[in-house]
Amino acid sequence: EVVYLNGRFVAPDQASVSVFDRGFLFADSVYEVIPYYRGIGFRLQQHLDRLVHSLRAIRIQANEDWAAILDELVQRNGGGSLSVYLQVSRGSAGYRTHTYDDRMQPTVFACTSPIRDIYGEGADQVQGYHVIVTADLRWHRCDIKSTGLLPNILVLQQAREAGADEALLVRDGLLSEGTSSNLFLVRQGVLYTPKRSSEILGGTTRELILELAAEAGIPYQEVDLRPEELATADEVWISSSTRGVIPVLSIDGEPVADGRKGPLWQKMFALFTCFQHRLMTG
Ligand code: PLP
Repeated sequence: EVVYLNGRFVAPDQASVSVFDRGFLFADSVYEVIPYYRGIGFRLQQHLDRLVHSLRAIRIQANEDWAAILDELVQRNGGGSLSVYLQVSRGSAGYRTHTYDDRMQPTVFACTSPIRDIYGEGADQVQGYHVIVTADLRWHRCDIKSTGLLPNILVLQQAREAGADEALLVRDGLLSEGTSSNLFLVRQGVLYTPKRSSEILGGTTRELILELAAEAGIPYQEVDLRPEELATADEVWISSSTRGVIPVLSIDGEPVADGRKGPLWQKMFALFTCFQHRLMTG
């Protein structure tokens, strides 16, 4: 296994970063997680567009050939089905200081970990999620994919300790998203999802689901969603790159509708699998 650090491909134990790196001291860094299936980056361009958005938003200047770096990393690690983690931090001043200047050299780090080849997997193999609903403790720039994930981590841990798989977050009476996923709700054949804003991350899987819905003639709306609406939903889903689209079976211990994977989820899962198949086979 090799990792990428600042222009070099090295063994993990050969990769080291300064203790004064601002990623370490302040979470002054942004990241992406990109699935590769059989050596091919899934929605790679959308992920890289979002990376550029995050970098610009926090004013880190780094203009690498991201696709070339990640493709090579995946090839060097066997070229199979891998999740790629890419982090860019502002770098180090050589001492601890809150202020920064543009002369700092960003630290670029990437590594891979194995993922299941969801391409070709059946709907029966997908495990539905049990979730809790809790307060969104995050800042107001959730559109930036920052490594400052403490609120997400604390809330996910709270979910795990309650026997759940994910937490849905509520701020000012509105549902935003999950700790590492976007949220969808189905009522009477219409798909609803919170509209894009600085309160949520613009998920690449969220975008793909809306594209697939449009192509298949499934009506959808990007709206404000209130937690009370979960109780009367026909279906609830969450989405993310490494998990695709997952049906939520219960919320705070109460089943969603009959507590089974819903028909529109089955349809979206089929569309999703078909899209992946097209992409993998050219
Ligand atoms: N929302 C948050 C807070 C996330 O961390 C993630 C990704 O992990 C998502 C949504 C889903 O984004 P994507 O579909 O691009 O993986």
